[in-house]
Amino acid sequence: MNSSSEINSLVEVIKSTLKVKDLTDKLGLHEPYFNNLTTFEYLKECIDSGWVSNSGSYVEKFEEHISRFTKANYSIALNSGTSSLRLCLHLIGVKPGDEVILPPLSFVATANSISHLGATPHFVDIEESTLGLSAEALSAHLDNIAVIKNSQVVNKFSGKRIAAIVAVHVFGHPCNIKKIKEVADFWNISVIEDSAEALGSFSFISSSPIHSGLIGQLGILSFNANKIITTGSGGAIITNNSQLALRAKHLSMTAKIPHPWNFDHDDIGWNDRLSNLNAAIGVAQFEELEHRLKIKRKLAELYIRSFEAIPGVEIVKEPINTKSNYWLVTLRFSDDDPNEANRKRLILLEKANSQGLCLRPSWSLLNKQIMYSKCQCSDLSVARDQSNRLVNLPSSPLLLARK
Ligand SMILES: *Cc1c(COP(=O)(O)O)cnc(C)c1O
Repeated sequence: MNSSSEINSLVEVIKSTLKVKDLTDKLGLHEPYFNNLTTFEYLKECIDSGWVSNSGSYVEKFEEHISRFTKANYSIALNSGTSSLRLCLHLIGVKPGDEVILPPLSFVATANSISHLGATPHFVDIEESTLGLSAEALSAHLDNIAVIKNSQVVNKFSGKRIAAIVAVHVFGHPCNIKKIKEVADFWNISVIEDSAEALGSFSFISSSPIHSGLIGQLGILSFNANKIITTGSGGAIITNNSQLALRAKHLSMTAKIPHPWNFDHDDIGWNDRLSNLNAAIGVAQFEELEHRLKIKRKLAELYIRSFEAIPGVEIVKEPINTKSNYWLVTLRFSDDDPNEANRKRLILLEKANSQGLCLRPSWSLLNKQIMYSKCQCSDLSVARDQSNRLVNLPSSPLLLARK
């Protein structure tokens, strides 16, 4: 079979999995979905009561939902995943001139939050099985580049302190966070979990499910429009550490010392708190989360079944000992030659998109983005190879919910 007809048949498999006949109705990659009418009720209550900004009962209700669902001891609702990441990094002491280790396969916000604090991203390779940071690559790289100076971990090539590691749960698949944490603990470096895409994803640690974000010192969630549930724009920090949680809340609300009327502040804070309006949407969205996760798993299973018998491609599956929320379903070309995989991948993107099917490549690697092209990095051959092979498929809960 030539590759053009091979790719046409992949497009047909996607269409038949989704049962789309005519593509007059555009299929997004992951659209926001509002099924319940309580959204309007809660929003109206905010407006009627005048509590629309960053204090109000819905912010607290939303945090209770996050804590109950993830089993985090503390949840702090903030206005974006990016500000949540930035605040986490600040809380664990990331300062201008530091380096922070992260994988190159992530959304740009992961690296930007590091730069916003005047620190520099430092990229370490991923592993094929989880698409997340490789604990082995991390350990080998630190052995190569790190020295201890004044009880701090310093990159001997740049002279900069390595202040933190950000692990990312890519497309909702939990990375091997237990092993990453072991390596980090050996070097006494803090771990932040970018769980922006991973609400509803769990790692099994001694057979107990631990929600993504709760193994590292701090974890973050995002509630942007294309995430699993949305508040319009929003994020959260989750943690079991009471001191970090208190400080996160304090700094996110201008570090104001509580007082009935005085404006006294004891630190340089931010205005990062989620608004009551956004939180009201989030409370309504939480009422649908369990159902949505079921739909998303069913969609992933349908794709897996459809592509099972087709040579040369596979659906990326949840890593062993994890439960993924399958935020985005990803097709991987398995040709031996990465150039061949990439060629087919680009044809598939072209053909599918020209027919109204929203397929997307995985992000361009962060170390290839112009502002991060001079950053320190380990050998990134797995990330480079994988980014030539991955295509995200339409994954909206709407795709099955409306049938
Ligand atoms: C969405 C996302 C973010 C940023 O979240 P926002 O709420 O859009 O600021 C960070 N990291 C990853 C991996 C994401 O997917």
